[in-house]
Amino acid sequence: MPQPHPGDVRRLVPRTDAVLADPAVAQAISRLGRDRVRAAVHVAQEQVRDGDLRPDEVVRSVLVSLPTRATTLTPVLNATGVVVHTNLGRAPLSTAAVEAIAAAAGAVDVELDLATGARSTRGRGTLAALLEAVPEAGAALVVNNGAAALVLATTALAAGREVVVSRGQMVEIGDGFRLPDLIESTGARLREVGTTNRTTLADYEGAVGPDTGCILIVHPSNFRVEGFTASVPVRELAALGVPVVHDTGSGLLRPHPLLPDEPDAATSLADGAAVVTCSGDKLLGGPQSGLVLGRAEVVEHLRRHPLARAVRADKTTLAGLEATLRGPRTPVREALEADPVELRARSERLADAIRHGVVEHGAGHVVEVVPADGVVGGGGAPGRPLPGWAVTLPEAYAAALRGLARPLLARLDHGRCLVDLRCIAADRDDDVAEAIDLAGAQLAAAQPTA
Ligand SMILES: *Cc1c(COP(=O)(O)O)cnc(C)c1O
Repeated sequence: MPQPHPGDVRRLVPRTDAVLADPAVAQAISRLGRDRVRAAVHVAQEQVRDGDLRPDEVVRSVLVSLPTRATTLTPVLNATGVVVHTNLGRAPLSTAAVEAIAAAAGAVDVELDLATGARSTRGRGTLAALLEAVPEAGAALVVNNGAAALVLATTALAAGREVVVSRGQMVEIGDGFRLPDLIESTGARLREVGTTNRTTLADYEGAVGPDTGCILIVHPSNFRVEGFTASVPVRELAALGVPVVHDTGSGLLRPHPLLPDEPDAATSLADGAAVVTCSGDKLLGGPQSGLVLGRAEVVEHLRRHPLARAVRADKTTLAGLEATLRGPRTPVREALEADPVELRARSERLADAIRHGVVEHGAGHVVEVVPADGVVGGGGAPGRPLPGWAVTLPEAYAAALRGLARPLLARLDHGRCLVDLRCIAADRDDDVAEAIDLAGAQLAAAQPTA
């Protein structure tokens, strides 16, 4: 194309309002805001003036230069086989929860009784759903996360007094946060009893006295002590006459047959715990939240503590949690209970779909379907494998898959990249195949030609 005469270029540069009125550009404005898009238009106009861009390419150039979302958080496909992956935001939410969150994002009757117009209990529908799920509880409270629930319980029951806790339960919950520090930050004093591997009822009896605010049981959810061990059941501690706070961690409300070692709220309360605290975004499968379930007067005492206001859950959390409780089986449950026979069949189909295109890295690598255990993750059920299957790829795929526009997170194992479909909804297997094809194309392009 002949270059336009410099004097003509200014007239050829598309006007800003004309570009902004383009339907696709208008859509980008609704996503990213006018200022951001206008800035991108100005850059493109400058390129036209410099002769680096044709006038008819301005809209396309603006659209490709803009991000697809207003957030930098990037959705990823979790092919790690880790069901509750903390680095991937723990529980993926059900469609029901996502819709409830979107519906609650505007003005919503979270603290209002529409029948009378009077103020009402915040998140009452969510609390009712919790009590329906756990009738053993007299009352419930929702806070920001499990740690907040625990801090609120120990503060309200034991600030300035003692929290009696077994040395075997002084755990670090991750990222350097340790429960002993968390509890002492509330102004309660820790009274440690027993030893790392064994704590007996006599140890607790010797420590409980007039200065005891509560006994705390912390489920060691991210490690296991094996061998010569002893701990005291909730029932026996509850008989000592001081409130028992049970931090069950993972948020099982009732026993689960696949997770026999995981404590649950209903059993603990039936055994006499005053309150159970746990996370809402681990095995429960909901949004980040902390649950407090327990005896009505104890929960009410917590609810009235000033700290409760500082850790209260927002409306979208309450909406998402209620929909998780009342809605269909959660993605966490689907992944946890995935049928190994089904996983194998899906893996075989995936392997067949991608085999021809997989780039050989290292001699003799073949795409195989191999037995691979998934794990609960997220500080739950350590040492409890979830039998399943995975597709093997060359190790180089792991980084390539992670670098895609829609990243796929796989697992590295003995120099292989394992793609585990456990945590992927079955209707997204095609997305996984596509990601592997794209990664393969990139690896092939990067390979030196022989
Ligand atoms: C996960 C966990 C916590 C912390 O809960 P968050 O929701 O991450 O704040 C506390 N205690 C136990 C036993 C846990 O497993």
